[in-house]
This record gives sequence, C-alpha cells and structure tokens, in this order.
Amino acid sequence: MSSSGVEAAQGLKVVDAFDLEDELRTILKPGEMVRDAQGRRHRLPRYFYEIPSHEAALATRLTPHFAMNEFILTDLKEAPRLHQYPRYVPCAVRVLAFYLEQFRSACGASIHIAVNGAYRSPSHKLSQHATPHMWGTAADVYRIGSAILKSKELIEKYNLIAEDLSDDIMVLPYGHDTGRSADDHVHLDLGFVTLIPREISEDRMEQPQENRPRFAFEDRRSKERRTVPAAEE
Ligand SMILES: [Zn+2]
Repeated sequence: MSSSGVEAAQGLKVVDAFDLEDELRTILKPGEMVRDAQGRRHRLPRYFYEIPSHEAALATRLTPHFAMNEFILTDLKEAPRLHQYPRYVPCAVRVLAFYLEQFRSACGASIHIAVNGAYRSPSHKLSQHATPHMWGTAADVYRIGSAILKSKELIEKYNLIAEDLSDDIMVLPYGHDTGRSADDHVHLDLGFVTLIPREISEDRMEQPQENRPRFAFEDRRSKERRTVPAAEE
C-alpha cells in the first residue's frame, strides 16, 4: 500500500486555517465576514480537513456512497493553489454528505455533483456573494441516475424530494436567474453551517493548536469500534 493510502485509512487531519501559510489564509479567509446577496453578513469557516493527495480524496469516504473527491471538483474558476495538494475543505462537508446520502436513498439512484458544484472557496470566481458553497454545505446535482437535470419537470420533481427530507434543506426553484434559481441542476444547501470538531479548543485566536487533531472517517465509526478485529493467521 502506498503511504498516501495509509494516510487515507487513518483519516484526515483537521486544521485551524489560522495556522496555514499566508497564501492559503488569504484564499480561505478563515473567520472573515462576507455578505450574501441580501446583504446579510456571515462568518466564514475556520476548521478544515486537510486532504494530502488525490488518492486520499478518492479513498476517504464520508458516507457509504460519497467520497471526498466528489466535493472538491473545480475548474479554473477556483484559485490555482487550491488545485494543488494538500487541499482543504470545511469540516461541515461531512454533514452535507450525510444529507446527500439520505437524498440518494430517497431518489433510489446515484447522485452526481457538477464541477464547481460543491465546495467553492471565497476566492472562487463564482463566490461573488456568500453562498453555502463556501461553507461546504451546498451541492449542485446535475444528474440523478441516468436523468440529466435540465428540465423544469425533473428539477421540480427532485427539489420536492430534497425538501421533503428535512426542513434543514433549501433548494433553488427552476428558473434562469443565476443565484436565485437554476435551470441545469438541483441546488440544495443546508445554510451557513460551520462545524467545530470536538477535538478543537476554541479559546484562542491566532496561536497554533498545540496538538493537531485527527479525524478518521474510516476507523472511528462506532460500529467498527465495537468490532473486534480477527486474529491474523
Ligand atoms: Zn449551488
């Protein structure tokens, strides 16, 4: 197994973005306030998963059907530094993945997220106003099973399924007004959710965390904690 594979199996490191190098802090803007399209102010996330490699992004499952790589697909609209590893995604992405897994079950088909359709940094060219995409808590779904979501009928059908799942979910109506509606995907989001990992101590602003905590997606699930590994033969 490659070293990156071992890294993925052990889990991803959680970082306080205030501890990152200047270039990344400038791009990710941890703790800064940004305005949404209605002028309301929201504080950007500060705690991120550090994804060491493409292999780790593929290998790290957030839920049975969603791997980390599906949430960081971006093109040249994203800041160039964020196309290099290690890459960073707000910790709340795992909450989004949980809801997408429920959405997948309700649809009875696979869910396909568009390029630039999940996490977009505050420096992404589509980040004109604060949107939950900058929190890692929004997904633009362009295909469900074999259905390409380009018609009013399909978008409204799947919007209803998403809204029926939970009051936490908001969708954009069908329409051609970018940002307020969508005509080639289902946008669903959870709002401006920030997640503070339980290993984090928040009683500091700028000094580095003393112990860089880890969060393992794979081997810390309670189900697996209860399982006694078989003896090697
Ligand atoms: Zn969207």
